[in-house]
Amino acid sequence: MASKPNIRSFSLEELSTFFTERGEPAFRAKQIHQWLWQKHVHHFDQMTNVSKPLRAFLESHFDLLHLHPKTVQKSTDGTVKSALSLHDGKVVESVLIPKGKRMTACISSQVGCSLDCSFCATARLKMARNLMPDEIYDQVVEVRQQAIEHFQTPLTNIVFMGMGEPLLNYKNVISAIDRITHPDGLGMSPRRITLSTSGIAKMIYKMGDDQVRFRLALSLHAATDEKRSKIMSINDSNSLDMLADAVLHFYESTGNRVTYEYVLLRDFNDTDEDARALERYCRRVPCRVNLIEYNPIDGGEFAASTEEQTRRFIDILERGGVRVSLRRSRGKDIDAACGQLANK
Ligand code: SAH
Repeated sequence: MASKPNIRSFSLEELSTFFTERGEPAFRAKQIHQWLWQKHVHHFDQMTNVSKPLRAFLESHFDLLHLHPKTVQKSTDGTVKSALSLHDGKVVESVLIPKGKRMTACISSQVGCSLDCSFCATARLKMARNLMPDEIYDQVVEVRQQAIEHFQTPLTNIVFMGMGEPLLNYKNVISAIDRITHPDGLGMSPRRITLSTSGIAKMIYKMGDDQVRFRLALSLHAATDEKRSKIMSINDSNSLDMLADAVLHFYESTGNRVTYEYVLLRDFNDTDEDARALERYCRRVPCRVNLIEYNPIDGGEFAASTEEQTRRFIDILERGGVRVSLRRSRGKDIDAACGQLANK
């Protein structure tokens, strides 16, 4: 049997056209849209204010796909990692990171990843496919429920720092964020959403042109092209110069400063000289720096920076007037930390 279209691939406007053309009242599309995007039903039969014949009609014309938890693991530090099964049997991982009243959902944008950053476990997976907007949205719905269940606290932040490169699935990520921020969806503030990219300059320009309202984080990890290309081959086609120009355009178009992410790798990019190079790079565009503790991956060639060197690195940046924060590992015991998502 030919597969039916996914009803959640249509916008409210498209549903409206569809239903009015079938002679349904104008409110019908909105009603059904609500079941799909706010009440999160998994079956047409759960749409109790829709007539039985119409439910049967929907059933025969559309698929109603949803993801379901395969495994859920809780770390000793409270971090919750979920492996979520998609309709085609593929699996993605999402993480809930609790910190006081701050509840952050770390969301995947692709199944696997096409990039090959040498310090990241997801890079070892084959890139399987892009996630659809509803699959991205549903991860947020899932993690949001977990925040309530485990911590009785609403979700406050979303970061696109799970599996995949969000700017290589731009259209679907944007469409998901539109729904996540829309009052007809989850109604979350775009200010609390951060997209993290390995640095696709062309797409950072596009984000500026599109005047997106969410935040941008750029995985820098080295402040010279020579070093950066050694660990991130994407740098060969998206150099630090190109990225600085793109980020400046983003800043001028949106008024948002970028956050540079920088994983501290012992004796590779954590020396005083590296810190000074980063400090100089930071002068080019208004930014802040988020240093990240390296999380070991199987067969990885790197080690985390020492406490002492991390301190020195921070001091050098701060003396240069750079705003710095340090992201400690969370959920390491369950392989939920940055760079560890690999469907083990
Ligand atoms: N592809 C996007 C988003 C996913 S990675 C990107 O590259 O930004 C989210 C963050 O985790 C990135 O900054 C990434 O560089 C970092 N990361 C990857 N592997 C890591 C590891 N082993 N330890 C700590 N951070 C890691």
